[in-house]
Amino acid sequence: MVRHLLPKDHPNRDNPDYIVTACMFCNTADNRYFDMAERRGVSFEGLSPDQLVAQRLPYVEATRQSYREFWEANVAPRQDYDMTESVP
Ligand SMILES: [Zn+2]
Repeated sequence: MVRHLLPKDHPNRDNPDYIVTACMFCNTADNRYFDMAERRGVSFEGLSPDQLVAQRLPYVEATRQSYREFWEANVAPRQDYDMTESVP
C-alpha cells in the first residue's frame, strides 16, 4: 500500500519522495490524519519526508495502543485463569 505524506492540496503530494509504503494496519490506523491536521496544529510546510513520518508516527502509535488495550481487555486469555482446573 502507498501512503501520501502530504495533503491533497499540496504541490508536492505526488512527488515520489513524499510517498511511502505502509502495511494495511498503518495505512488505515489514522486515515483522517489530514482532516484532523488543522485541529491538531499539524503543518506540512518545509518538512522533509523523514520529518513528516516522524510527525505522523505518534498518531499511528496511539491507534495501535488503543487496539492493544481493546485486545487485552476483550480478547487476550485471562492471566488468572488456571488451566489445570479444566482438566477432567
Ligand atoms: Zn505498519
